[in-house]
Amino acid sequence: AVGTNIRTYFEGTWHDGNVPIMRAADHGSWLGSTVFDGARFFEGVSPDLDKHCARVNRSAEALMVDPTVSTEEMMEITREGLAQYDAGAAVYIRPMYWAIDSDKSGVLPKKGATGFAVCLEEIPMSPAGTSTTLTRTRFRRPVLESSVCNAKAGCLYPNNGRMLAEAYAKGFGNALVADALGNVAETATANVFMVKDGVAFTPVANGTFLSGITRARHITNLRADGVEVVETVLSFEDFEVADEVFLTGNMTKVTPVTAFDDVTYQVGPIARRARDLYWDWALSGR
Ligand code: PMP
Repeated sequence: AVGTNIRTYFEGTWHDGNVPIMRAADHGSWLGSTVFDGARFFEGVSPDLDKHCARVNRSAEALMVDPTVSTEEMMEITREGLAQYDAGAAVYIRPMYWAIDSDKSGVLPKKGATGFAVCLEEIPMSPAGTSTTLTRTRFRRPVLESSVCNAKAGCLYPNNGRMLAEAYAKGFGNALVADALGNVAETATANVFMVKDGVAFTPVANGTFLSGITRARHITNLRADGVEVVETVLSFEDFEVADEVFLTGNMTKVTPVTAFDDVTYQVGPIARRARDLYWDWALSGR
């Protein structure tokens, strides 16, 4: 558990607490066919909840796990669970699927034999002004030919875990990771943007890293506000000469970066603007 005050939706109903959901012989428990998504409830809103629910269904399909709950139904279930929290609570919303049964090979998930749960945990939003630091990692994103790196799948995260362990050991907060070609892809837990001469840049989606829902929202917001945003191929050297760097993801929405190895950055105007625009957009949905 990452947060507190956990509630779990499983087998058609909401339960208080962190309840067991998988059995020993479930495909997901020994072959790792788990997918999840992460969304947020804070200040009375759940920004892009529809997109997070739709993505967990696409992630399931990528692992050949049959997604058995429609986006609309998943949103309805989630709203029912969120109603149990204080209106001012900040909650991490995690819908999950896993394969229960398989074909005779044991490996291929069986259609319709799918487990589904939603886990809600109270996790405060990080206060405005929270920043992080990055180090370059030698670990890389996998490629589509050897992993389902286009899905938000649990089986991809041990690689991200070792990136983080390496970064923490060096005294940094997160890792800047390359794709198989050596171009910057994302970080271990979030997407990344850099700013040079007033233009925002972010790695172009190539299917080997999570092209985040929050990333897309920030691109839309910034462009509508007149900021040029370019999705392109970026190198580690590009980040060394950046004016600002910031991360985007569902958990914190936007986090400025103040160092990349021995390069330091100021928290800049575009990261601040991205934060203001995100909150204005999100709260307008109340
Ligand atoms: N990359 C990784 C590896 C992540 O775990 C996340 C968080 N889900 C993101 C990027 C950001 O994606 P999103 O904005 O859709 O949460």
